[in-house]
Amino acid sequence: MASSDERCMEDFVDWVESRNPNEPEFIQAVRDLACDVYDSYSENTAWQSAKILHRLSESDRIITFRVCWEDDEGEVHVNRGWRVQHCGAIGPYKGGIRFHPSVNASILKFLAFEQTFKNALTGLPIGGGKGGSDFDPRGRSDREIMRFCQAFMDELYRHIGENTDVPAGDINVGQREIGYLFGQYRRLANTFSGALTGKDIEFGGSHVRLEATGYGLIYFLRCMLARRDQDLEGLDVAISGAGNVALHAAQKATELGAKVITLSSSKGVLHNSEGIPAEEIDRVIDLRMDSTELLQEIRKKSGGDWHEGEKPWQFSCDIALPCATQNELDGDDAEALAQSQCLIVAEGANMPCTETAISVFKEKRVLHAPGKASNAGGVALSGLEMAQNASFSRWEQQRLDQQLLEIMQDIHSQCVEHAGEHDGYVDYHRGANIAAFYRVANAVLAQGV
Ligand code: GLU
Repeated sequence: MASSDERCMEDFVDWVESRNPNEPEFIQAVRDLACDVYDSYSENTAWQSAKILHRLSESDRIITFRVCWEDDEGEVHVNRGWRVQHCGAIGPYKGGIRFHPSVNASILKFLAFEQTFKNALTGLPIGGGKGGSDFDPRGRSDREIMRFCQAFMDELYRHIGENTDVPAGDINVGQREIGYLFGQYRRLANTFSGALTGKDIEFGGSHVRLEATGYGLIYFLRCMLARRDQDLEGLDVAISGAGNVALHAAQKATELGAKVITLSSSKGVLHNSEGIPAEEIDRVIDLRMDSTELLQEIRKKSGGDWHEGEKPWQFSCDIALPCATQNELDGDDAEALAQSQCLIVAEGANMPCTETAISVFKEKRVLHAPGKASNAGGVALSGLEMAQNASFSRWEQQRLDQQLLEIMQDIHSQCVEHAGEHDGYVDYHRGANIAAFYRVANAVLAQGV
């Protein structure tokens, strides 16, 4: 990159920083994309004069609202809700809802920004958004969860719709919460439409949606391995997290002959060098349980060691799949993985690797798949759920699994094509950013200022 381009790039990042003070996650996500696309951007005068990067670093709109609800004892609680509608150039805003005490504007803005580019990679007509609340569902009863979801939808319903914005689940928002949110939406909007995805199969949900993020991650990983004439058989796979993504990734990886040696929660890691047995993963996958309790449940039945307060990355593995949350894997973890001869890190969570971790992977030539490519299976299946809802139809499991596989293969090819190969190393991270940016930037450009 020429030095004047470098200066422009720095000016751009400074401009974003000055407009978004105290929002480190959002700035991290914008910088990550901008660094990879800046070469192409600086050569494209149409993009530059239309200020595409500047426009994409500002969400179309951000809705903030109060969520007021009553617990089982009758005490009133006040939480904050958000919906970030980042970019609607390719299709209706689309992205999950997260309930977690860490949720704030920075986190939802970064997630919505990432979602726009992830959704573009799926090739489906879906724009990017994200929402959530700082509500902590831990220890809350089913009735409290229901009341919270209803209170959240009391405001959100006026901003969403099948052709406007289609939320889905994310951390702590699964099929149960989507059911409560959908019920309230349907009552308030007086319409039965596909305004949410991740619904129960009995009321407009899709086969394979539940499994799609984890299975899609493994399909993507298989493409990465196939380029090296390898498969998953006999490989040691370290996975973080114990939620929907982690467990379905573990299920598919074991089905394909890999050994899943770790799962984790925010409290610690379960390590089993023999591999967590497939039947154990199948058994716990439908239990609705706190992650740490679930891991203890697995340990009771099938052994392994519990390491309190630790992460999975210290254990020697061939493949690492961070499937928990943002910035969970730092520079030291990346060094440890590189030392243990880990071949591939593929992200199941959104932005789980810090910027330092990513530079360590590049330097040590550990292949690294960014979440916007490797975890796109979930939102891709959401897109297919929208298509089924719009056509009043329900497609078969096998057909959907095949479509998921093909979408992940296509995303893999896009990454390789745009990254190029340098001495046998494919920079998937750069490839995903460039491929996604082309599609979004051209759509924004074509629709005028
Ligand atoms: N929360 C998921 C993601 O991060 C899925 C979003 C959706 O299906 O809309 O991609």
